[in-house]
Formats: sequence, structure tokens, C-alpha cells
Amino acid sequence: MVSREVQAHDTVVRFGNAAVGGDKFAVIAGPCSVESEEQLLSVAEMVKKHGAVALRGGAYKPRTSPYDFQGMGVEGLKLLKMANEQLGIPTVSEVMEVSQMDSMCEYIDCLQIGARNMQNYALLKAVGESKKPVLLKRGLSATIEELLLAAEYIYDAGNPNIILCERGIRTYETATRNTLDLNAVAYLKQRTHLPVVVDPSHGTGVRELVIPLSRAAAAVGADGIIVESHLNPCEALSDGHQALTGPMFEQLMQELKPFVEAA
Ligand code: PEP
Ligand code: MN
Repeated sequence: MVSREVQAHDTVVRFGNAAVGGDKFAVIAGPCSVESEEQLLSVAEMVKKHGAVALRGGAYKPRTSPYDFQGMGVEGLKLLKMANEQLGIPTVSEVMEVSQMDSMCEYIDCLQIGARNMQNYALLKAVGESKKPVLLKRGLSATIEELLLAAEYIYDAGNPNIILCERGIRTYETATRNTLDLNAVAYLKQRTHLPVVVDPSHGTGVRELVIPLSRAAAAVGADGIIVESHLNPCEALSDGHQALTGPMFEQLMQELKPFVEAA
């Protein structure tokens, strides 16, 4: 029952002091992966200072290659909790398996379902039963209808606190990592009352394209963005090439000011 025909007004999803949906454009930011206490706390402080409403960071990472960094696991979740307690910023992190739910719920404010798990129905039901806010990413090759039906699983299990995320889809185009489907944002805003955010980091895979596509997301009516940022992207253990540096993140927030501050 995520349809606008059932509920005309926009759903606002709240966690900690963050609100996604409604009038203000919400910026969720942080590293692709939690890598260390120093890395996480320094980037968290930076994104908070410039106006991010929530901190992202993966502790369980769905990597294409099994030889790549797989995430810090529960130690990463504890660092996210530490950042939350020290800075008062709520956190978003990916849950990959039902068995991770207890620790995710203990340490994290908003559970991300990654693109690769959009149709993991056991996981959708588990986050639905948990009642924690959920950020549901569109599958790598999922249609908009499939995304809405995935959201319906969470809703039907008892959890209406769902944020949809357009993060780019597979097309024939190889110049960018994915093709960011901004049609989906405009379409979803008409079809559903759920908030819709854009991930321009995975949507493009290219740091230099993240600010222009963030502006486009705001212009098309998205409720916010989730963006990767790292204070030393060359050293990042995942997705460094698409991470905004500190000065770039500051510039992004300057450019989004009219949307972020809208009454
Ligand atoms: C991520 O947010 O780091 C991530 C793995 O995203 P996606 O599931 O969209 O690929
Ligand atoms: Mn990433």
C-alpha cells in the first residue's frame, strides 16, 4: 500500500533528528565502507559540519569480487554507533542477511537494503518486521514496478518507514558505472507517497559527475541524496573513485543550499 491512491500525502521517514521526505532536501553522506575509527569519525565530522542529516557507511559490503575488502562487520557497526553518540548524527548502513538483523538494529538507525538484495524476500520481510526505517535501493536491473513491489513486501510486513533509492541501472552504456534513471524519480513521486532519494555516487561511478547529478536530483523533485565521501579517496578500501573529497562535499552543499534550507 505504498500507492498514492491509498495515501495522498507524502510520507516523511524520521530517524534520530533526520527527516527524509517533506519540504527539505536531505543529504545523507559518508564513506562507502567504514575503515577505521579515525577515518569514520573524521569524515562524519566533516559531512555533519556542512549539513548532512545522516551518516552513511557500510560495515557489511556486497563486493563483486570475493578478494576485495568485505567490510569490518560488527566492529564497523560499533564505530557507526560511536560516531552517532559523539556527534549526534543518525546512521545508515547496509544489512546483507537476516542473521545480521539483531546487531544492525542495536547499532544502526536506518537499514539499507542494497541493490543486490532488492529481491531478497526473506530480508525484506525481516526489515519489515523490525519497524526500523529502511532505505531500499533499486536493483541493478530492476524495473520501477519491481522496486515498488519490493517496498510493498516491507510495508506489508508492518513497516511503513521506507525510503526508495534510485542508484542507477544497467544499460548498454559503459562510459559511466551505471545509468542514473532520473525518469524513475519523477515517476515514483507520482506513483507513491514514499520519499525518493538519489545515489549519484553509484549512479555515475565518477567523482566529477556527482555534483551535477545531485543538482539534477534536486531539480527533478527527489527528497534527497545519499552520497559517498572520503577525506582521502585514493586510500579508500572501496569506491574511492566516486567518493567526494572534503572540499567537493562542501561545494556540493553550497550548491544545494536553496533545496536543503527550503521551508
Ligand atoms: C553502497 O551503498 O555502497 C552500495 C553497495 O550500493 P548499491 O547496493 O547501490 O550498489
Ligand atoms: Mn559504495
